Amino acid sequence: MDLSRFPRRRYTPYATAIEPLKNLSRTLGGPEIWIKRDDTLGLAAGGNKTRKLEFLVAEALAQGADTLITVGAVQSNHCRLTLAAAAREGLKCRLVIEERVPGSYKPEASGNNFLFGLMGVERIEVVPLGADLNAAMEAIGADLGGQGRRGYVIPGGGSNTVGALGYVACADEILGQAFDMGQAFDRVVVASGSAGTHAGLLVGFQGRQSGMPVTGINVRRPRAEQEGNVHALVQPLAQKLGVAPIPREAVVALDEWVGPGYSLPSPEMVEAVQMLARLEGVLLDPVYSGKAMAGLIGLARRGDLKAGERVLFIHTGGSPALFAYQDVLRS
Ligand SMILES: *Cc1c(COP(=O)(O)O)cnc(C)c1O
Repeated sequence: MDLSRFPRRRYTPYATAIEPLKNLSRTLGGPEIWIKRDDTLGLAAGGNKTRKLEFLVAEALAQGADTLITVGAVQSNHCRLTLAAAAREGLKCRLVIEERVPGSYKPEASGNNFLFGLMGVERIEVVPLGADLNAAMEAIGADLGGQGRRGYVIPGGGSNTVGALGYVACADEILGQAFDMGQAFDRVVVASGSAGTHAGLLVGFQGRQSGMPVTGINVRRPRAEQEGNVHALVQPLAQKLGVAPIPREAVVALDEWVGPGYSLPSPEMVEAVQMLARLEGVLLDPVYSGKAMAGLIGLARRGDLKAGERVLFIHTGGSPALFAYQDVLRS
């Protein structure tokens, strides 16, 4: 597996820290929990999309694009970071916002939504749930082409075989840090959404023959559907890198912590966000890392994570969205 042959921009001039969560581990009284601080990646306010954008934007620049076009939900971290990368590279950015919860897009909303305007988005188009998002982005690209410009379309969450390379690289980074620390991990727990993070980690660990189990925690879809989505990305990604195929059974994406639906608060999410803030001074987010941590806490409480097992939680970022959920998190 050789990642050096893929064009890459660098937005984080360091490896993100791996830290022990001693107070949380003591409180739960079972597994030894560690955290990979991908909330401190580069670009505006960090988060997992920064790793994907390193490879996606490099490809956009190689193709001579002058505008990044992407899609996300109303509080999309991916849209925020795509805008930040565009600003850094002197590119323009157009967004398609998918209203996954009807009536939820409010131009005056706080959190990531506020940052879209601050970072100079060229135009936002709002479409309802179920709209053909790729068609909407292709139409913007065609429109720009008619004006002598050139758009580069990034799929939702940056989750294709280019963006997922960012998390193949992250798996490598984790194994290198574990080696330097003289400390192996037994399991990785991560939020599973558009699947690029989950798929990239699986392929990255496989590419180094590490056999690290990856437990995905769903934020949107039923288990079988999400595992199918992740596996559908794992296969071409492994092939692109010359990595041995990964069996379907190695893809685990638990769906018990989705709550009432994507982006909708659950009591378990609120508890997890408050616990990490109060025990560790770590800010999670309400849509992804809060639900993923709720999953980790739930697995520890019911004994699925064994005493002494060393578990690495990937903090995928998202804290700007906290400011759009103040009413449910204040207590
Ligand atoms: C996008 C996102 C995820 C999910 O990552 P995918 O690669 O889309 O599965 C997790 N956490 C945060 C904060 C995100 O913005």
